[in-house]
Formats: sequence, structure tokens, C-alpha cells
Amino acid sequence: MPSGSAARYETRARELRSRGFPLSKSHTFIRKNKPMRNKNRFAQKAFSVLLSLALLLPGCGGGGGGSGRRVPDVFHNAAHVVAGPNQTIEDARQAPAIDFDGTLHIGAGVEPDRDQLGTTGEHGDAAVSSGHVRDGAGRDAMVVFFSQFFTDRKRLRTFRAQPVVRVARGTSAAHTDLVVRAVQILNAYLPRENRMIFSEIPSPYGADLVDVPRGEIHVNFGPFGEQIPENFRTYRGFASTATTGGGIIAIASRIWINSNRLHQFTYEAGISLLAHELMHSLALGGHPDAARYPLSFIRHRSPRGFSRRILGPIDRDVIAAAFEYAPEATSANELGPWSDTSFHLRGDVDDVSFGVASFNGLLQPWASGPTPSVDLAHNTELSGSASWSGRLLGFTSESQSLAGAADLTINFETLRGQIDFTGLEHWGVNATPGPVGSGQTWNDGDLRYSVIVRKNTFIQTGGDAGEVTGAFFGPNHEGMGGVVERSDMSAGFGGTR
Ligand SMILES: [Zn+2]
Repeated sequence: MPSGSAARYETRARELRSRGFPLSKSHTFIRKNKPMRNKNRFAQKAFSVLLSLALLLPGCGGGGGGSGRRVPDVFHNAAHVVAGPNQTIEDARQAPAIDFDGTLHIGAGVEPDRDQLGTTGEHGDAAVSSGHVRDGAGRDAMVVFFSQFFTDRKRLRTFRAQPVVRVARGTSAAHTDLVVRAVQILNAYLPRENRMIFSEIPSPYGADLVDVPRGEIHVNFGPFGEQIPENFRTYRGFASTATTGGGIIAIASRIWINSNRLHQFTYEAGISLLAHELMHSLALGGHPDAARYPLSFIRHRSPRGFSRRILGPIDRDVIAAAFEYAPEATSANELGPWSDTSFHLRGDVDDVSFGVASFNGLLQPWASGPTPSVDLAHNTELSGSASWSGRLLGFTSESQSLAGAADLTINFETLRGQIDFTGLEHWGVNATPGPVGSGQTWNDGDLRYSVIVRKNTFIQTGGDAGEVTGAFFGPNHEGMGGVVERSDMSAGFGGTR
């Protein structure tokens, strides 16, 4: 029995087939002619000429209710994404917080080992190391990867600006948390100008792709019968995207998650499923060869857990490089320069490590340390207020090295406090920061934020522009660290009590 949307699909497909469109019998969505709100009449005309069909992406997240051959779970669910409280829409601009079985991590999974970095020095009480690390896949690998997506040009298409994500009216807090965490993870790997924005305004439940406004990605959780055809019942989810410009510019996307199947998988698998579908929405209209890219999140039957790199090894390159193709590119070879090397700054203060990677123009800060044994609020040895001090290491938006002091104070009555980054100085592009006082003052030299504690994490509630996402580290909260991201700088920080 076809569902409502399947019936609507069939009606539209018949209509278009009768007008000569070579459509398959199912699994294609049609963008119907709707009045445009765009005031630019020329743009309206151009748009209607370029109007193209959306792709439907099959097989997302794997089917196979039990009889199919299972792809081994390469990560064995070793990583648990349980750091911090349930994430709400307001939290979507924060960095991801992931607990890797005893190691609490903030930001992108790009931390280098200390022995991979050459230069070492000191900045305040932090041991500083820096250097180039070949931790990317490189241009040749990107050309090979994207070649799969140029067989049909519409399979690589990207939004030109920051897409707006909305979840449907009535989406539960638990489902919203999955989407927010997936957005946080992908945003940590996206160029800042392409990061997703999460709207507080819900989208209509069950809206079709044709009803999704330009520039938006709508996420619906629902049982298969309501929103997708019957023969998709084993799918965990899928994404469909409307495109224009010959199919190379994404203009709207819709993700459907099969709530009949979600509960059969772990929490981590739910987040990786959302990350997979969002990668479809953002750029990739298909799956790479699973045998060749077994750890990629965008492969068919995506991995159901996280490695310390968070995304698959090639995904970091893929997500950023997808946005490097010019709209008129017709071959994977038209990717410009793409380095396999990152320049890293890393700081270590006791068990707390932090830093930032500069990778093909992408700045990725991180911080990491031992997971506390209880939430901060339950630490009976701390009362009144406590302070942590340490350092910050980062890059300006021009890739100049940046360093300064990081001081956090928390009041245990209110679980609120203040973090100040002071004495901020910068040096040359990809330089190793010198001793305190040897650089040039950055802007007015400080950034100040009020913060609120949530379990063992903290986030900004006010102060300067930018986002601060931090955590407490060590069994007794001896350490703290995190990331601060702004349009003019990006940094990791860490310190001790
Ligand atoms: Zn998929």
C-alpha cells in the first residue's frame, strides 16, 4: 500500500514522464514549479531554467534487518558520545564533546602525537610543540575519491553559503540531540563559511523536498509508512537534495530518519547515521566504494562508532575539499592545490593537551584529557569557587600563531563562572610561539567570556563574540581545557587547578 508521499511521488512522476522526462519508476523526487519569493526577476527566470531534479540517495545507513551480510563494526563502539548534557538546538554552534572511554575530547579529532612534532619550547607553564604532520589524504587521493562523484555531475553538489538546518515540529529532545551532535561534528570539519546554522524554528512535519525553502536542510524522524515508500522499510534514513546550476549547486535538502529502525542501533550509530545523511545533504550525492573506503562515514552502511579521528580518515579531506570545486568543474582533476600536510601547534600542561591544526586553510582546534570520575557538581572536595590557569594556543584567521594565558574561575553555588584569555600575542604565519612577551599584541590583547557548567563541560553564556566549548579533566577535575572559535581566530586552551 503506497504511503501518502509515495502516492504523491507517483502522481508527479506520471505527470513528468508524460512531459518527456526520463524518470525511473520510483525513488525520484520532483521539484514542482512554485512561485519564487526571490525579488530578483532575472534570478527567478534563471532559476526556473536551471531547475533540476533532486536526487534520491538510496541505501543510507544500511538496510539488512538481519539476513544481510553485516559489515564489521570497525570501531567496536569504543567511543561514547556521552560527554555533556543532552544537546539542544542552542548548542549546535558549540564544538563536539566526545568521551573516548576515559579520554574526554573537545573539538575535531586532529590531535597529533607529541613525537610527531619537532620543535618544542615553553609558553608560560605549557610545553609547546609544533610542526608539519602528513595527516591528510592529499590531492591525488582526493581526485581518486571525487572521480566516483563526477561520473554523474549531480552527485557532487554543495551549498554556496551556510545551510540552515531545521528539525520538524514535534521532534523529541533525544532525536534533536542526535542531529545537534552530528552538526557539531561536521561543523568542526567544515570551512567556517560553510558551517551549518541550526534554526530554532521547527520545519513542518513531513514536508516534502519541494516544500523545503532554498538554503535549508530539513530533518524528519518518522516511521517508514508515513514518509517514504514501503520498499524503503529497511533503510535507516536517506537524504534527498534539490539542485540547480546544472545540478552542481545544492539549494535545499531533506533528511528522513526511519524511527522504526533507530532504536535497533546504539546512540553512537544514530549520530553517525545523522552525520552520514548530512554529508549527503551538504555535498555528496552517492556512496564511495565501501571496500576501498571502509572507514568513511559516507560509505554505504556507514560505520556505527567513532575512532579518535571522529570521522573516517579520508572524510576530513573530503568534507573540506568538496567545497573547493568551482561550480563549473566537470572533472575531479579540477581540484586546485590540496595539501596532505597540517601545521600543528600543541600545548601540554600535566595530563591536559590542546592545540590547533591548520589544514588547507581550515583551522581545527581541539583539547583533550582524562575523563573526570564524577560530574563537577558532585565533586565533594570542591566548594565555594575554584580557579584553573593555563595557556591558549591558536591561529589568527591569517594563520599567524597566537598564544596567551587562559584563566577559568567557577562558582560552585551557581555552577557559573568566567574564562579570560589575556596577554594574547601573535607571531608569524606558522611560526612557533616564542616566550611570553616576545610577540605582538593581538587586537586589544584579551577575550573574556562568562560560562555555565553542564556536567563536565562548560560553554559561553556571554562576553566577547565567539564560541567557547570546554571540559574539566582528571579524576578530581584537576585540569580544564577546550576550544575558542571566532571569525578572526581559532584556538585550543588548557590548564590546571
Ligand atoms: Zn547514504
